[in-house]
Amino acid sequence: MDFSFSSEHQQVRETTRRFCQTEIAPLVRQADESERFPRQIFPRWGELGLLGVRYPEADGGSGLDKISDCIIREELSYVSQGFAASWSAHTHLGIWPIWRAGTPEQKERFFRPALTGRRIAGFALSEPEAGSNIRALKTRARKVAGGYRLDGAKLYITNAPIADFLLLAARTAPALKPEAISLFIVELPNPGLDIRHLDKEGIRCSETGMIHIADAFVPDDCLLGGHEGTYPIILESLAENRVGVSANALGMARAAFDAALGFARQRQVAGQPILKYQAIAHRLADMSAEIEAAKWMVYHGAWRVDRGTLDAATASRIKLIASETAVRVSEQAIRIHGGAGIMREYPVGRIHRDALVYVIGEGTAEIQRNIIARALDD
Ligand SMILES: Cc1cc2nc3c(=O)[nH]c(=O)nc-3n(C[C@H](O)[C@H](O)[C@H](O)COP(=O)(O)OP(=O)(O)OC[C@H]3O[C@@H](n4cnc5c(N)ncnc54)[C@H](O)[C@@H]3O)c2cc1C
Repeated sequence: MDFSFSSEHQQVRETTRRFCQTEIAPLVRQADESERFPRQIFPRWGELGLLGVRYPEADGGSGLDKISDCIIREELSYVSQGFAASWSAHTHLGIWPIWRAGTPEQKERFFRPALTGRRIAGFALSEPEAGSNIRALKTRARKVAGGYRLDGAKLYITNAPIADFLLLAARTAPALKPEAISLFIVELPNPGLDIRHLDKEGIRCSETGMIHIADAFVPDDCLLGGHEGTYPIILESLAENRVGVSANALGMARAAFDAALGFARQRQVAGQPILKYQAIAHRLADMSAEIEAAKWMVYHGAWRVDRGTLDAATASRIKLIASETAVRVSEQAIRIHGGAGIMREYPVGRIHRDALVYVIGEGTAEIQRNIIARALDD
């Protein structure tokens, strides 16, 4: 066993960290308060090769690995989970299935331009009545001459208000089994899709949308995989992305910890830094231990993705621990800040709001437990 990061991995971390500090950090406060994503960041990410990290060079990617992908996520989230969330919905959920199951034409039209950041992607699976239970999905796709007509609704879709295309899940026939869920590549704007921007408490600058779909035409060549569904691809994509968002959670936890440690060193109460109080020091000790545990789960998961041995229950265990760690650590960071923790001037309140999204999004903590428990019973 070798737990060290290679020099290439360390270089990925250094380059991403420098970019985040110089180009993302100055935008974070304004983007969070305006709840608008600065779209120009996507082509910049593309120029730097940050959008195609885990995809092979032959397909237009950077030819690195999942460990590098997780390092980039961690560093992006350290600075802003809002930016990292939009990056993730684009680079993984919105295009991974196209890379995995798309035709050469679909890859040329959608996957490659997404890697350059010229086209922004999103993934529209969740619905008002199908969040945790995706098999309850209701959006319908009726076959018509030359394509399909879609009707239904999607809720809480990252990037929907700024996307150039969405990978949208729908059923082609109600008679098919619940798992028969197909993916359509829907170019935007589409007159059949009405997209509303939603105001949020967490990851505010990552734009999230609600979509009303009425008689939206999608041509035949925008169906991904067969008309009887791409369910195994969806599950595989979600499992890998659970490792990915766990790296995001790790980045948030580290940011909250560093802010709390810095504050505890400089904040004087009764003539001494609060770090000298055992209660504060122990809290920080617990936080650092939890972060260390989450870190090795995340990178073990990435290592397994790279070897093709990740299973759904392992991905869920990692996501459960990493997301709960981010929530706990960021809450503790607020407490260590005292009143300052509630002030916008300090980042810990934002980090906590952002961390809460990750015990819900990408499958709630309860759903992760269900997946783990099912595997125990196999
Ligand atoms: C900011 C944000 C961005 C998002 N981005 C996307 C996106 O880009 N694409 C996309 O498709 N979706 C996206 N989502 C949706 C997200 O995946 C869902 O919110 C999530 O799966 C939960 O679904 P729900 O909100 O309908 O909650 P519900 O399913 O209504 O759950 C409510 C509560 O009931 C619990 N519960 C439900 N079923 C069970 C069960 N079987 N056992 C135990 N407990 C259960 C849940 O854990 C939760 O506590 C996003 C969500 C958020 C908040």
